[in-house]
Amino acid sequence: MIIVLRPETSEEQVRRVIERIEELGLKPHVSRGESRVIIGAIGAHASSFAYHFEGLDCVERVTPISKPYKLASREFKHNNTVVTVNGRAIGGKQLAIVAGPCSVESLEMVVETAMVVKEAGAHFLRGGAFKPRTCPYSFQGLGEQGLKYLKEASRRTGLPIVTEVMDVNEIDLVSEYADVLQIGARNMQNFRLLEQVGKLNKPILLKRGISATIEELLMAAEYILAQGNPNVILCERGIRTFEALTRNTLDINCIPAVRMLSHLPILVDPSHSTGVAELVPSVSRAAIAAGADGLIIEVHIHPEEALCDGAQSLTPNTFLQLMQDIRRIAAAVDRQL
Ligand code: PEP
Ligand code: MN
Repeated sequence: MIIVLRPETSEEQVRRVIERIEELGLKPHVSRGESRVIIGAIGAHASSFAYHFEGLDCVERVTPISKPYKLASREFKHNNTVVTVNGRAIGGKQLAIVAGPCSVESLEMVVETAMVVKEAGAHFLRGGAFKPRTCPYSFQGLGEQGLKYLKEASRRTGLPIVTEVMDVNEIDLVSEYADVLQIGARNMQNFRLLEQVGKLNKPILLKRGISATIEELLMAAEYILAQGNPNVILCERGIRTFEALTRNTLDINCIPAVRMLSHLPILVDPSHSTGVAELVPSVSRAAIAAGADGLIIEVHIHPEEALCDGAQSLTPNTFLQLMQDIRRIAAAVDRQL
């Protein structure tokens, strides 16, 4: 439930409300607005405790949150969340473009790719050092060495790093290098991993699982938020359908649906949702037109030589062209690039 306090409430009264919430076995999440303090009291059957607060002098109103995800819901927080990474906002008027190779293959390739995507206008560098591969014999990523190469590419270009963490045991290591930790589609419901990244103060890019519903995506985000990390960015990356021509099917509905149900920012990954480089530019334009807060796109300097996901990777030139096209769509939907 949400407990909205009156504007004149003292700090002492706020403290007492928080204590009461804790005594009832609920978890308080305090958000301080311009004029009032709003406290979310989260826990099983929280709204059955509403009567403990309704009569208090300092309480303006108590409202239940109808959705099973609480902190992720727009009922809990009306205004869009803007996640800031090294001074760059994700979820505001400006679009956020994350670009780079699927996986880090060498220092030279990641530095060169970082330079070209930066030159084309990207704001973040992506690249996997720990790769979740379907086949155990496929290239699994360079591990810590890959993180070091990413760091060097970031140092040379100033682009913050978005990279995947696959395992609870690797969180500390990946956090040393990453600016944003990515939770991949295959781990969207790895609840222990979600809880652990929820304890960090780094932003988390949470990708939708291939068979996850929108509600399950929001519930996964809730696991992170519930641990105290408010910096969650969602990502629609395509779901599995009967269509076999493309690798996945971009669920364009997900963008306005998430916008309606949640305050969290949402990016679209047109690379994994199509699996086909030729389709990436059109799908990117559609995503921005539908209201996505940005894109995460795979770019490789030589896609035909890529160790992972070459077929869906854009060349530097196609990426540059895509950025120019996106700029025009952004203007049409009152966003900036
Ligand atoms: C990736 O971004 O490289 C990746 C593995 O994505 P997903 O988890 O969406 O498949
Ligand atoms: Mn990939």
